Amino acid sequence: MDNDGITAFIARIDRQRMSDNLFYLAKDPLPFRKVNYTVPGHEKSTLHEADDFITAQLESCGYEVEAEPVEVQALGRDISKPLSSQYSSPEAEDPWYTAYNLYAKKTGTTHPDEIIVVVSHKDSQSWVDSPGACDNAVGTVGNMEMARLLADCETNRSIWFLYCNEEHGPWTSVTAAEGAKERGDNIIAVLNIDSVGGKSDEMVAAGRLTNVTLYTTPEGKALAELQSEIIESYDIPLEQKIVERPGPGDDDGSFVKAGFPAAIMNLGSHPYAHRHYHAETDVPEGVDIENAALAIQASLAAILTVDREGL
Ligand SMILES: [Zn+2]
Repeated sequence: MDNDGITAFIARIDRQRMSDNLFYLAKDPLPFRKVNYTVPGHEKSTLHEADDFITAQLESCGYEVEAEPVEVQALGRDISKPLSSQYSSPEAEDPWYTAYNLYAKKTGTTHPDEIIVVVSHKDSQSWVDSPGACDNAVGTVGNMEMARLLADCETNRSIWFLYCNEEHGPWTSVTAAEGAKERGDNIIAVLNIDSVGGKSDEMVAAGRLTNVTLYTTPEGKALAELQSEIIESYDIPLEQKIVERPGPGDDDGSFVKAGFPAAIMNLGSHPYAHRHYHAETDVPEGVDIENAALAIQASLAAILTVDREGL
């Protein structure tokens, strides 16, 4: 796809579909996405119900969805800590549950062995009854939107859309990343989409549309710089900055630790400034869908550029 093709393609991101899916996953019918909460009268946990919804949506686009089981526990809650970090280690006797990594995979035409991973955690916070709308239902629906658009589009390289769990313990992206390393998968780039559009009330009031790309390694820095160049060259109206992480973190960090250094994360602000972070008030009405959609356009343009040019 040439630059004009990418411009037209990313314009197809559907804000209404993102919003509809966001409200489905973070309000009605699913108030949360946690393995330790089941809606009264329902048979499955809200996390497993979310998996069913995501799977059905991806299947309706033509993907076969693989589910990789990982044993997890809900995290404990320590209310003596600040609201944003009240999670604590589970007790040894706490129950274990099976959570799933979901994969929708496209096989590339000219370089099928080179894999681009687009990862988002789909779960909400296991230690608190938070809808986790900004963290990270919005990234999940953005990742689904990219998968939907790319379903009918040939790509040179393989692209894996991965939906994992980062608010239970252990993080299931670790299993995904270590499995890829053990198999010898050639993952050339990892793009973590988490909390896009999340920012402070002041930034919202000022009408600012923001994106921050975090990286950990020199390879990640090159990818982050590419993300910035793309936002500028495609005139995506985002205030963009890149920030080096002090060490591997979040789901991109799972891949860095497993030996895949070209990993970045797109999020709305850094330090993360969303007032409702990890709180019961992280509701879908508080998500800046326009900001999130622009961040997804930027992410999609980056994926298409890496697909065209390699790294
Ligand atoms: Zn998150």
